[in-house]
Amino acid sequence: MLYAEMSQQVMSENLLERFTREYIQSQTMPQVLFTWHGGEPLMRPLAFYRKAIELQRKYGKGRIIDNCIQTNGTLLTDDWCRFFKENNWLVGISIDGPQEFHDAYRRNRHGLPSFAQVMKGIELLEKHGVEWNAMAVVNRLNVEHPLEFYRFFQNIDCRYIQFTPIVERIVLKSGKECLAHVGDKESWQMTDASITSEQWGEFLCTLFDEWVQKDVGYRFIQLFDATLANWVGEEPGVCSMARSCGKAAVMEFNGDVYTCDHFVFPEYRLGNIYRHSLVEMLYGDKQRQFGVDKWRSLPVKCRQCKYLFACNGECPKNRFYTTSEGEEGLNYLCKGYYRFFEHVAPYMEYMKRELLAERAPSNIMNAIKENKL
Ligand code: SF4
Ligand code: SF4
Repeated sequence: MLYAEMSQQVMSENLLERFTREYIQSQTMPQVLFTWHGGEPLMRPLAFYRKAIELQRKYGKGRIIDNCIQTNGTLLTDDWCRFFKENNWLVGISIDGPQEFHDAYRRNRHGLPSFAQVMKGIELLEKHGVEWNAMAVVNRLNVEHPLEFYRFFQNIDCRYIQFTPIVERIVLKSGKECLAHVGDKESWQMTDASITSEQWGEFLCTLFDEWVQKDVGYRFIQLFDATLANWVGEEPGVCSMARSCGKAAVMEFNGDVYTCDHFVFPEYRLGNIYRHSLVEMLYGDKQRQFGVDKWRSLPVKCRQCKYLFACNGECPKNRFYTTSEGEEGLNYLCKGYYRFFEHVAPYMEYMKRELLAERAPSNIMNAIKENKL
């Protein structure tokens, strides 16, 4: 809706070149990571990505460049998979668990389900030895079935899983239904697919119990890894659990740059690459402020919470609740996270001790079997 008046919503080759050059120059570390999102990025022909690789080589001048791409997997072919393998791309596949859960929400524009196509895409990735991970959303349906959800990923032997809870609000603006952002404080309602905080807590605890008994060190669940990282005082590796934001800016097809892909709203536009340099936008005051605001805007309830070190108030996009003291800025999922941290605390303590003693956290599985926990 933000760009409804623009019919061609695709990045031009001119913009691709400009972005590639500036982005590589703006990175201070030797390694550079490109992350491709859509819409559905495989709707661009392969030639577009071949061109991207050519430009990365031209402007990278020997630097190590990595790419990852986030796709619904339905358009994967042998050609795509060969390309990903040859160029060492990491592919994130959107899949929400078993067929009945996935197909409930992921339908194409004709209303047809997509699960079978996604599974065919995964087979192709496996056939070509492409590295891939699953990116699942947890919605009002699958949140009630955490074990079926998790066992599906065990059955297809997916070892890297990220999941994101659906927390979406709708507001009316000029008579139209729009997605709300954190600044929209009035007359909003949750979408049907959204989960509750209580459901989130129950889902995480049940899934964790399964993982901690069977899969530690083999299957990597992003949120559990991030929790353990925070427990031992390391960077959590996912922005939502980190102390600050600001490293997940996104560029749209027309060169508009926004603070974060969850904040693609006019108020959070940093500028346009044709008028401002990427360095100016990515390291400028507005983006820096956005980053530190994650910490600065925490309500007292969070500041006094014993799990602040693990939670950091989670993602600001979800902070639209008010504390019982009437302070704004509490995370909608707070109850769920608090319950999760309470539940996993003894396990996290155990794994932390193992790590500090330079032993494998996966020893926890034996400790559980031997009733030591
Ligand atoms: S707003 Fe949320 S998704 Fe964006 S950088 Fe911050 S924590 Fe990450
Ligand atoms: S668990 Fe709740 S109170 Fe504690 S830091 Fe997270 S959001 Fe804040």
